[in-house]
Amino acid sequence: MRPEILYPLFAPLRSLPGAGPRIAQLLERLVGPRVVHLLWHLPSGLIDRRYAPKVADARAGVVATLTVRVDVHQPPSRSRSRQPYKVRCSDDTGDLVLVFFHARSDYLEKVLPVGAVRVVSGVVERYGQELQMTHPDHIAGESDRDRLLTVEPVYPLTAGLASKRLGQLIRASLERTPDLDEWLDPAFFARQGWKPWRGALEQAHAPEGEGDLTPSAPARARLAFDELLANQLALAMVRRHMHQVRGRAVRSEGRLGQRALDSLSFTLTDSQQCAVAEVTNDMATDERMLRLLQGDVGSGKTVVAVLAMLNAVESGAQAALMAPTEILARQHFATIEPLAAAAGIPLALLTGREKGKSREKILKALADGETPMIVGTHALFQEAVTFKDLALAVIDEQHRFGVHQRLTLAAKGRAADVLVMTATPIPRTLLLTAYGDMDVSRLTEKPPGRRPVDTRVVPLDRLEDVVAAVGRGLAGDAKVYWVCPLVEESEVLDVAAAEDRYRHLHGIFGARVGVVHGRMPGTEKDAAMAAFAEGSVDLLVATTVIEVGVDVAAATVMVIEHAERFGLAQLHQLRGRIGRGTAASTCLLVYAPPLTEAARARLAIMRETEDGFRIAEEDLRLRGAGELLGVRQSGQPVFRVADLAHHGDLLAAARDDARLILERDPGLETARGKALRTLLYLFERDAAVQYLRSG
Ligand code: ADP
Ligand code: MG
Repeated sequence: MRPEILYPLFAPLRSLPGAGPRIAQLLERLVGPRVVHLLWHLPSGLIDRRYAPKVADARAGVVATLTVRVDVHQPPSRSRSRQPYKVRCSDDTGDLVLVFFHARSDYLEKVLPVGAVRVVSGVVERYGQELQMTHPDHIAGESDRDRLLTVEPVYPLTAGLASKRLGQLIRASLERTPDLDEWLDPAFFARQGWKPWRGALEQAHAPEGEGDLTPSAPARARLAFDELLANQLALAMVRRHMHQVRGRAVRSEGRLGQRALDSLSFTLTDSQQCAVAEVTNDMATDERMLRLLQGDVGSGKTVVAVLAMLNAVESGAQAALMAPTEILARQHFATIEPLAAAAGIPLALLTGREKGKSREKILKALADGETPMIVGTHALFQEAVTFKDLALAVIDEQHRFGVHQRLTLAAKGRAADVLVMTATPIPRTLLLTAYGDMDVSRLTEKPPGRRPVDTRVVPLDRLEDVVAAVGRGLAGDAKVYWVCPLVEESEVLDVAAAEDRYRHLHGIFGARVGVVHGRMPGTEKDAAMAAFAEGSVDLLVATTVIEVGVDVAAATVMVIEHAERFGLAQLHQLRGRIGRGTAASTCLLVYAPPLTEAARARLAIMRETEDGFRIAEEDLRLRGAGELLGVRQSGQPVFRVADLAHHGDLLAAARDDARLILERDPGLETARGKALRTLLYLFERDAAVQYLRSG
């Protein structure tokens, strides 16, 4: 239950004065649905209005706040209504002309009555002999002078929302913000010289100079640390919960694994061997394994997973592998089955597509323990699925993250060990935020014999050359992927683009062209993939459905259309589909000029390197962490205040702090512990709080 003190902050935005339905809707899209989300919307700039000279002294080109008397209104003459409306004002040193275009005279007469003294603030310009201010930002009475003479924060805007209005709403949110008990370690807090939470929040919204807008400004650093601490504490709580359930020792002599290895035409790389050793060691201890197997696309994670699974099976228990998509589950099944067969072990498959009688049979065999090993999609999580004795859950999440899902599958076993595989070469800093302190095995080398992919960047107006190059490839028996762009996140448009391109290429190359996209029924998708993998189709037009793990080793050419629209991680994943065999491969990144600065940088990095870890670091630098970790369901970034490109050191401190906290006060029962619970709720990491009770 959310602490009562936070209720005002979790009220809907429309509860703020001045936030009508239209504005509330705009704001929701900009920041999120609740008052607290508006608080995290920090200024991106500032306007210093403290410069308040006499009119004669006012410097041109600078924002000034001037106190003047209104002398006379000069509306444009009727015949020249496109001229501006002028209001002449003065103080005892000189004249100032206020200039308004498309003005409403009744309004101007009301706010600037002749004879009255007014404070106006805006950029002063010199026009001939005249000193002018066009559309003052503020017009106020003398009594409001002090309120105007401040530094005004400028917020990142959304279309249709005026900065002034946004500022007012944020002020109103700040007024509702309660003081909260300090959750930071007292010594750390003192050392940093930070303000208490509420003070820091106020300060972050009231920058006095450019320095206050940087990530390292004390107020921002404090808020970022709070967010990172909430994140790390939540992850540490999940991890602690996982470890509390006593693990089991899974040991085998490795007979089954050896048989599988004997059936392979290759030997394991050093880093594969090392990963296998780490995994089997973990499994052998009676602590529960929580290990991340990190390795670039094509680095050979599957074999490592299979050996771990056979280890569990040989010990008399069951093992399951969960893939994020249907295609990938089937692909894993196809790769793993021969290995399992070599070890003499049957392998089952369960996806959303197994239905009725056949599904029942699969479920029964799992529950009886007759099926020792299974591959599937998230269908494996469903309640109806029970295992006789699941000892190992392998989760191939490629580049999707979900702490929750990991736990659900593991919960189906008696203290099942968990191995998560990811193809995203996540920088260390991000690893911590997504996985807490999971143990990590990394596959750093590619299997021997691979040749680098020749990556080229081609403008869209040379598409004919690209088609000709593809034609030459096809004549030489190449297998070619043609990836069509993401159109504004709309699957319908993606599909239309892919189908158009398919028709175009089909017109040129005929029956050797196939197409696959996300809207096709599963069986058609399989058929299209199979035709590409096994023969009749040599040019496969696809949307990004092929991004995730699809494996056709013979493919050597990839065209990515509108490559400028893809993120670095995505381009890297896509390119990883080729260059998997020993033949030379080519990747053509087709772009539509003009390129933005960031897009140019992305394409340059792609041309320069195939090193996934390097690409990930560059990606982090170019985009910031929020995007790299994907977005949450709400569409909001993972972090609202923290910026991992800048707050990496704070993250390490937050991790250490979280660990210490749980060592000393595992139930969060002390005064500080209670404050920390509030922190978890404040940053909506409250899912973790349940683990305090469920033990
Ligand atoms: P990942 O899942 O990490 O993307 P895979 O496990 O699918 O990579 O392996 C990619 C390809 O490399 C597969 O065809 C696999 O058989 C092959 N492979 C794996 N390990 C080796 C190795 N040590 N030597 C040669 N080929 C390997
Ligand atoms: Mg794979």
